[in-house]
Amino acid sequence: KNIICIFATFSLNNAKESGKNTYDIFDNCDYQKFQRESAIIRYLHQSIDHDYEGFDVYFQPIVDVNKKEVTHLETLLRFKCDEFGRISPMEFIPLLEKSGLIIPVGKWVLEKAIQACLSLKKYQSQLKVNVNISYVQVLKSAILNDILSIMKKYNVDRNRLVIELTESGFIESDRSFVNFCNQLKENSILLALDDFGTGYSSLLYLKRLPACELKIDRAFVQELSGESDDATIVSAIVALAKTLNLKVVAEGVETEAQQTFLTELGCNTLQGYLLGKPVSAETIDALCAQGEMVPGADS
Ligand code: C2E
Ligand code: CA
Ligand code: CA
Repeated sequence: KNIICIFATFSLNNAKESGKNTYDIFDNCDYQKFQRESAIIRYLHQSIDHDYEGFDVYFQPIVDVNKKEVTHLETLLRFKCDEFGRISPMEFIPLLEKSGLIIPVGKWVLEKAIQACLSLKKYQSQLKVNVNISYVQVLKSAILNDILSIMKKYNVDRNRLVIELTESGFIESDRSFVNFCNQLKENSILLALDDFGTGYSSLLYLKRLPACELKIDRAFVQELSGESDDATIVSAIVALAKTLNLKVVAEGVETEAQQTFLTELGCNTLQGYLLGKPVSAETIDALCAQGEMVPGADS
């Protein structure tokens, strides 16, 4: 009797969420998903309350293949808990957003990124760190103040940080996004448009935001070959970026063939498993110390 009551409440809540005068047909898969998500959100809360235990940040190199130098490191959040082990960011980031927890966690990520940038400065003073910022942080928190105060606390040059933004949330919240991006620029913080080309409004967003980098989504890189439409799209994006004086980074480069293709198209700054997987700051430090990774200046 009890379980039926729980299922009925679940369906009733679903119906309420989809509006008035409607109904919901109970689906066990939806219910399982809901249960898993609720459990993950509980673990995320617990983790934050225990000094972010279970969270970790990894760094993936972005490489200038002509100069054979690492110019940036992208900061990528990781999370694990006892019940589910490692959980993909594709699953837990939306839950952090939905619960608002992305706001404290996002600040923590920024601080870890700045700390890594400082600890790796000994290899190259011009190394940049990229940090992904969610639209929830832009809309619901004083993210610019947070960024500026963390940078002040550690006394790092403003142009060491690149903020990566995706299109999600841009359309509905046009003004706040444009304001935030303009303020970044006023404060000499760099802006990269992430997953470029995947949304509906890429060109609009390019026109309205003062970006300095474009990151071509890995969906376009994956099927690169002479005949594919993706090659035409990538070469158009590279040409567009050059005209607008933007740096272009290709994401998700996994094979030598993709690398050759991209460099022939004039895209020399690459990120992907071929160039290096995301690893801890300590691993990057060890690779640099052994001379197996060459961080370089970025003009
Ligand atoms: P993203 O910003 O597009 O990050 C690049 C993703 O591609 C990362 O996935 C990275 O591990 C993966 N990747 C890199 N090279 C390759 C490759 O050669 N092949 C393939 N198949 N994948 C590659 P990850 O770490 O799972 O992150 C997924 C997404 O989660 C990120 O996509 C980003 O949107 C979000 N994310 C990660 N960390 C944060 C964070 O701290 N804050 C926010 N707001 N979002 C984050
Ligand atoms: Ca990114
Ligand atoms: Ca991306």
